[in-house]
Amino acid sequence: MSKTKYVYFFGAENTDGNGSMKPLLGGKGANLAEMAKIGLPVPAGFTITTEVCTYFYANGQQYPVELKAQVDAAMAGIEKAMGKKLGDTEGLPLLVSCRSGARDSMPGMMDTVLNIGLNDKTVEVLARKSGDERFAWDCYRRFVQMYGRVVLDMKPKCKTDHCPFEDLLEAKKKKAGVDVDSDLKAEFLKELVVEFKAAVKTQTGLDFPEDPMEQVWGGIGAVFSSWMNDRAIVYRRMNGIPHDWGTAVNVQAMVFGNMGETCATGVAFTRDGATGAKGIVGDYLFNAQGEDVVAGIRMPKRIEHTMAKELPGVWEEFSKVAMILENHYKDIQDVEFTIENQKLWMLQTRNAKRTGFAHVRSAVDMVNEGLITPDRAIARIPANDLTQLLQPVFSGEGLKGRTSLAKGINAGPGAATGQIYFQPDEAEAIWQKDNNAKIILVRHETTPEDLRGMKVSAGILTSSGGAASHAALVGRQMGKAVVCGCDSVKIDYKAETVTAAGKVLKKGDWISIDGFTGCVYEGQVPTSPSEVLQVLFSKTLKPQDAPIYQCFHQLMSWSDRYRKLAVRANADTPGEAQQAIALGAQGIGLTRTEHMFFDHIEDFRAMILADNVEDREKALKPLLKYQQDDFEGLFRAMNGYPVTIRLLDPPLHEFVPHEAKEQEALATKLGISKEKVAQRVKDLAEFNPMLGHRGCRLGIVYPEITRMQATAICQAAVKVMKEGIDCHPEIMVPLPGNVNEFKHQETVIREAAQKVFQEAGITSDYMVGTMVELPRACVTADRIAENAEFFSFGTNDLTQTGLGISRDDYGTYINEYQELDIFAADPFQTLDQEGVGELMKIAIEKGKKTRPNIKLGICGEHGGDPASVKFCHKIGLNYVSCSPLRLPVARLAAAQAAIEEA
Ligand code: PEP
Ligand code: MG
Repeated sequence: MSKTKYVYFFGAENTDGNGSMKPLLGGKGANLAEMAKIGLPVPAGFTITTEVCTYFYANGQQYPVELKAQVDAAMAGIEKAMGKKLGDTEGLPLLVSCRSGARDSMPGMMDTVLNIGLNDKTVEVLARKSGDERFAWDCYRRFVQMYGRVVLDMKPKCKTDHCPFEDLLEAKKKKAGVDVDSDLKAEFLKELVVEFKAAVKTQTGLDFPEDPMEQVWGGIGAVFSSWMNDRAIVYRRMNGIPHDWGTAVNVQAMVFGNMGETCATGVAFTRDGATGAKGIVGDYLFNAQGEDVVAGIRMPKRIEHTMAKELPGVWEEFSKVAMILENHYKDIQDVEFTIENQKLWMLQTRNAKRTGFAHVRSAVDMVNEGLITPDRAIARIPANDLTQLLQPVFSGEGLKGRTSLAKGINAGPGAATGQIYFQPDEAEAIWQKDNNAKIILVRHETTPEDLRGMKVSAGILTSSGGAASHAALVGRQMGKAVVCGCDSVKIDYKAETVTAAGKVLKKGDWISIDGFTGCVYEGQVPTSPSEVLQVLFSKTLKPQDAPIYQCFHQLMSWSDRYRKLAVRANADTPGEAQQAIALGAQGIGLTRTEHMFFDHIEDFRAMILADNVEDREKALKPLLKYQQDDFEGLFRAMNGYPVTIRLLDPPLHEFVPHEAKEQEALATKLGISKEKVAQRVKDLAEFNPMLGHRGCRLGIVYPEITRMQATAICQAAVKVMKEGIDCHPEIMVPLPGNVNEFKHQETVIREAAQKVFQEAGITSDYMVGTMVELPRACVTADRIAENAEFFSFGTNDLTQTGLGISRDDYGTYINEYQELDIFAADPFQTLDQEGVGELMKIAIEKGKKTRPNIKLGICGEHGGDPASVKFCHKIGLNYVSCSPLRLPVARLAAAQAAIEEA
């Protein structure tokens, strides 16, 4: 029987894995192997595969029997490569770290244990051999603390719980009369180790393990267990990472950044993860361990500012290694390194998490530098991130007369205004009550435990931590505005205040943070449109003065070359249509005509209150004029692109007043009794209006409405065509489930059109088609396609009717459904491909059987969702239609779909 290989070794010699093995070795393990293979200085180690994690969870947290022997052999390999022994009481002992590493990186979400191998004996050897007693005991006390928290489950369980180790550390600092941990002398650290171990015994009933191999297995178990901790689960849900992927575990020889002033540790990006600008950026700390930099507790130095001066030899080597890595992976690398006595060791490399801005700029730059091809640039940008480039900014008018209260590091671009909250769980509770709440989370620093609070905040402000701190990395990956390391703001959690420039702001007060500049403002700063919109839409900025726009433009033009799907916009006004054109629309996929009626509500109400056809037709006359004007505006703005206009859809009761006072005013205006108005409102009321008298059912009962709308569309087309503008109206019937419903409406439309064209003496090549938004329409699509010239999937209603879930009421339980993984995503945002998607496939197959060239589109909200756009490409739609600001996302996602298929 062949033996499964569960453990992969890496080191200067005999590396087993490589960078392509992420599913098995996790991102970190695969990249450590790859770095070792290409000759970079990596401390030796081994990776336990993700298959072991899967086995662990499938078998009551047990390991495969073969694992132990494989770990023992690999540990011997580390000892040989590093020339040290685990638990050695003669020579310098080998210490190892134990870290997680999933296929996709999940920064800070799982657990790590460092300095494994220390015990009461090895600590003495480490002290002797390193010549630094303080260092050895500091490692030991950190190890006991970390092991206690992570392996022995001594983490505080809630915000009010005390961490016994932190309490003891604080007491010790007080006793020693020092402010920071690094000033504690060896004698105090020795006392702390004893006290920490006593705390372990008290809280867990266990003795702290002295056997190094027992410690290693404790670390391995803790890392596998942390795959299922709450924050890891939340992170996976947010980022669409399947729970069954599992994590790998990396056990690696420790090197020391905390062995004195010739040692350091740091994290760096080969290009700026916030803006994408070229050049290494990052943080480092002398005499520190890796987690000190990310935790944001000590303020690190900036690599790009001081490293060349302070550590010239290391800087030279480090910048070379960084470039080797970027060229090798052809992407921005996020690296961790340690300098032990002036020697550089690389501990990790991964493709850097970055903002939408950095994604676009770095990808476009790399194409222009000849490093990657345009299709690779397109494929790697998360399409949704493009919306960041369209979001409003603080500038111009909004900033007039304001001075900033403070300035920190501009770690996550974006302009955010919100109310101050200090505690992540309170922020989450506020948001649970009101999903529109605007929150700025204000913290000394953030930790992975704060994830849920960060998720619901518009922006994050921290007083410490650098550009690579947790708040910066995770916040900007979520697309939040982040200002970090703003040390001139003083935060008092107890008093719930933040003080800056002499101003004291309390919890709930409004604050604005600018993630582009790092500035912090009091109150709500009004925003201006983004650079891209200023160039494309308001034309207040020239392209040559707008570097973000230039990158955006290049990316969009490459995307347009690849994509096969056309993109259209849902637009109801000429203004929206112009914005849509500016953002690349090739037509309008949905005009909701009812929105126009809201602008002329009095006339529309008169029509609703009319008793008979004659009065109704009279009341419709002024509406015809208004609608025609609106349609002309749309046709002119779209200048020859097709415009899909949907006939009246919502139930009439949405248009009538429900308050007695308003009803009385309407009655006076129309010269009828208020009782009559009240009675009509009562008659129109329905228990379930979404399944009520709406859609084509309105046009069937009141054909004069359909006639008026079709006439207005055709008259507008004629007028615009006479001005020399090409015009292609597509008249769309809403909500039929039965071919007879469609036929009825089609007859009314075609008769009206013929009349207009006959009178005008010219004809437009208009089409008559239908929304497909009921399951019955899907399964009878062959019949409907006998008459309908196009289908547009109304996936908002198709989701509502297909899932039997009210689109207006599902907010009360959708969070629960997602928390419980019943729905992987909100089905009203991301298409339910398994259910609604199958209905669409049926409709397409049947529709094409009758009419092979039937035009197919989608106009539900899903038309701007990347995963749904890709699905639409796969099932063969001709176009997707979405709101104007989602167009760039749709263009990019459509290109990605085409590239993925190629
Ligand atoms: C739909 O149902 O998907 C649709 C586009 O129509 P509305 O949202 O107006 O119901
Ligand atoms: Mg609909």
